[in-house]
Amino acid sequence: MSDLTKLTAAELAASLASGEVSSVEATEAHLERIRAVDGDVHAFLHVNDAAIDVARGIDERRGAGEQLPELAGVPLAIKDVLVTTDMPSTSGSKILEGYMSPYDATVVQKAREAGLVALGKTNMDEFAMGSSTEHSAYGPTRNPWDLDRIPGGSGGGSAAAVAAFEAPLALGSDTGGSIRQPAHVTGTVGVKPTYGAVSRYGSIALASSLDQIGPVARTVLDAGLLHDVIGGHDPHDATSLAHDWPSFAAAAREGATGEVLKGLRVGVVRELTGTGFQASVEESFRASVALLEAHGAEVVEISAPHFEYATAAYYLILPAEASSNLAKFDSVRFGMRVEVPGGTVEDVMSATRDAGFGPEVKRRIILGTYALSAGYYDAYYGSAQKVRTLIQRDFADAFDKVDVIATPSAPTTAFRLGEKLDDPLAMYANDLATIPANLAGVPGISVPSGLASDDGLPVGIQFLAPAYEDARLYRVSAALEALLVDEWGAPLLDRAPVLNGEAR
Ligand code: GLN
Repeated sequence: MSDLTKLTAAELAASLASGEVSSVEATEAHLERIRAVDGDVHAFLHVNDAAIDVARGIDERRGAGEQLPELAGVPLAIKDVLVTTDMPSTSGSKILEGYMSPYDATVVQKAREAGLVALGKTNMDEFAMGSSTEHSAYGPTRNPWDLDRIPGGSGGGSAAAVAAFEAPLALGSDTGGSIRQPAHVTGTVGVKPTYGAVSRYGSIALASSLDQIGPVARTVLDAGLLHDVIGGHDPHDATSLAHDWPSFAAAAREGATGEVLKGLRVGVVRELTGTGFQASVEESFRASVALLEAHGAEVVEISAPHFEYATAAYYLILPAEASSNLAKFDSVRFGMRVEVPGGTVEDVMSATRDAGFGPEVKRRIILGTYALSAGYYDAYYGSAQKVRTLIQRDFADAFDKVDVIATPSAPTTAFRLGEKLDDPLAMYANDLATIPANLAGVPGISVPSGLASDDGLPVGIQFLAPAYEDARLYRVSAALEALLVDEWGAPLLDRAPVLNGEAR
């Protein structure tokens, strides 16, 4: 494996800026890595044929003396939920097979303007519904740490690509944890920004009030660098925040000194520990919290009494919004059409949706349509929205007492492929720690906290902060990351077997 794929995005950017390495070399190294391991990992649905040409263009501009943005020439993997003009966008669904968008998602456009080189589109659960990538219509992605295990979901492709050194950076989307939970099970860093901090324009909508785009990386600094590129106000997105965001890369650099931990109040949520959590996941979490405490943080036990209803409320609100968002796949406007000779428009629509959507998508459309139906609206959707308000209040109360909340990012390490596929409720239970942030719109990050003492698989710790305080998350997690890497003697991912080119 080439050393260029081992570099962090920040290191690669520095080598590109100094002229030591060209973008063509860096891009070729990653394409080579994809060719070597993606047959096993299956992180990509589409690899960009034009990547080398784009890289050459960046090299020429740099060669001509142009001042380029920091990440110019660095390769990037893009979750297939984001539409792109030069590559198909399927959202992991058969119904959109081969679909070419007439425009780029805002985050993709921003990444291109910053000179990032799109390597391809990454695999995901169909329409971002799932926690394992097994609901992709194109077959699952495998976890680079153990190819028999799930890479998380829905953004398993982006996380696995970064964990397997196929890309230094990736874009993901997080509606209930799809950036953070894959980060947790693959030993990577994933950030769900404050709702509205990053444009959703051109993200194929799952649940519009919950969806948020964010970065996936191997270090907190790299995530911050990408966040700086994609964030900010977008007139195309009605929920985009007009806010003057600080540099998240600067926050990560500042955080790495550890100063931020002095007097930092860290809240540990009583309801997000104990029952339902794998003992080794909790053990790793406790060790990280103790490390923060040893370096000056004040650890406070807090209660968020309504978090226990978060998953139930989410799995009513999400299907309700999804059933409405997915109504546009009607065989007329986008993608696939199944012809029904002699049939009506409704027959064609129904045959198309029957053939084009997978079982999980159908399950949620049925559930959401039911929850929104006249007779049941108040009982289900209305009640879920009330719970959502109570969860927002739990956060407000908590942030009166603490600066950040810390939780294990997910209840277990990576489970085996197939293990939860036939049990939707078991699959949904993976999201119990990540969902509250989406319901309240607050930012969250998952950073590696170690390897589980029982199965040796990666574990992530999640930090949550009040809305608009994304920079605080970068500071705190960069501080913890520095302490942990110091303790381990090397970054966590250097211990994954696949990473040394030994994919089975
Ligand atoms: N696992 C969650 C779900 O299935 C999260 C999805 C997401 O964040 N896109 O809905």
